[in-house]
Amino acid sequence: MATDQEIPVNQDTEFETVIGLEVHAQLLTQSKAFAPVSIAFGNPPNTNITPLCIGHPGTLPVLNENLVRYAIRIGLATGCRIAEKSIFARKNYFYPDLPKGYQISQFETPICYDGHVDITLDDGSTKRIRLKRIHMEEDAGKSIHDQDPYNTLVDLNRAGTPLVEIVTEPDISSPREAHAYLTKIKQLVQYLDICDGNMEEGSLRCDANISIRPVGRKELGTRTELKNMNSFRNVERALTYEIERQKHVVKNGGTIVQQTLLWDPVKMETRQMRSKEEAHDYRYFPEPDLPPVFVTREFLEEVKKELPELPYDRRNRFVNELKLPEPDASILTDERSIADYFEAVLSCCGPGSAKSVANLILSEVRRVLNESDLDIRAFSIGPERLAGLVKLKDSDKISSSAMQTIFNAMLGNDRTADEIAAEKNLLQVSDSGFLQPIVDEVIAGNPDEVARFREGKEGLIGFFVGQVMRQSKGKANPQMVKDLLMSRLKSSS
Ligand code: ADP
Ligand code: MG
Repeated sequence: MATDQEIPVNQDTEFETVIGLEVHAQLLTQSKAFAPVSIAFGNPPNTNITPLCIGHPGTLPVLNENLVRYAIRIGLATGCRIAEKSIFARKNYFYPDLPKGYQISQFETPICYDGHVDITLDDGSTKRIRLKRIHMEEDAGKSIHDQDPYNTLVDLNRAGTPLVEIVTEPDISSPREAHAYLTKIKQLVQYLDICDGNMEEGSLRCDANISIRPVGRKELGTRTELKNMNSFRNVERALTYEIERQKHVVKNGGTIVQQTLLWDPVKMETRQMRSKEEAHDYRYFPEPDLPPVFVTREFLEEVKKELPELPYDRRNRFVNELKLPEPDASILTDERSIADYFEAVLSCCGPGSAKSVANLILSEVRRVLNESDLDIRAFSIGPERLAGLVKLKDSDKISSSAMQTIFNAMLGNDRTADEIAAEKNLLQVSDSGFLQPIVDEVIAGNPDEVARFREGKEGLIGFFVGQVMRQSKGKANPQMVKDLLMSRLKSSS
């Protein structure tokens, strides 16, 4: 009997892809993981440091409670089990940006384990990606290679910044799925208020482990690890590249060498960083200077209570309570900042306007944000001003096209919708005292059309509305005009 290892491989072999992701999220605490010093970004190099961050002898780490709190938040939000007792470990290696010679991390006992993240695939279906573990650790400093032509500079401000590392089981089967997974992680950490989720700026970092195997084989193939992909798009590109590279090697009789590869975003290819022979042996051992972390029932309850409403629940509330169509509710809750903005607008104009507010955000607001690559928190029309515009529309004081004109005129300044509507003469007349005489005039002036309408040519209503609109110089409320016309045309025959 042949073992599945022996499935022959040739040019026609079909392969499947196996991916496992390790995501580091930089936490939004005030201070470092084990030292009372700020983690604020952008300070001059080597100013946010204490003797502890640079490994002076005799210093002792003190655990930041918020590191534990934030790790538990993401653990709870991903259905993980939370370890009652977990310990820190030293991960030993030499690097100029690591003067202590080790990073404090967790090894055998992560604080969270056995969780899952459900991702949405392109066809709308859901796939569950299992999480192996989420552990707490500290970041290293930064080596700067591009500021001095001869030397590498070291900035230790980042040393000791708190991180969680979220590790999946090898459940991801394509670059698209990896993208969907990262999108979900970003959404979660933003909702949980534990990380800003910005991959370009390095607050969310992703290493990808990838292998291929002939379809039908159970054992995992030899994997490579991809690093240095600092955007969602680069992750997708790098994985796609690496899958093709591995297939090419295997189909031509070669074998995959376990190694770490760096993605080069300019050349759009991967290159070798280190191979297994030179791979790190971190010689993890328990951190002797920190006691075990005990998560008490009370602490766990406290963290559970402060969990915000998660995307899934918020979307359901938008559907059930605000009666928004499901796709709209999904898009609005994709990013917490958009959902927050939506609710802020709604609180200014009442839940009855949910549909109008949603429509305006999903069309005009999103268009502007996309065009200018802006975050909604930096959007020039604040919730209150947008609510003013919605109110004008919902009370029929302006037409749809006027709404668009006013919206565009509100960008980049702080004028209200009312001011602009008045100035541009866009307020719609819904006053029957003004409109009725025009309606009567139009009916009196077009006896032939009136007769044909009354014989059943009801399509002529458009003609009558058009006449009234013209006479009112476009200011009449068309719905009202139509109602007034209908009642005249239908009654006094
Ligand atoms: P290490 O100890 O080297 O970090 P782990 O077992 O922690 O290895 O796995 C790291 C990541 O690599 C996990 O996300 C895991 O799912 C993934 N992984 C492990 N083996 C493979 C493989 N053969 N192919 C693809 N991904 C893998
Ligand atoms: Mg690992």
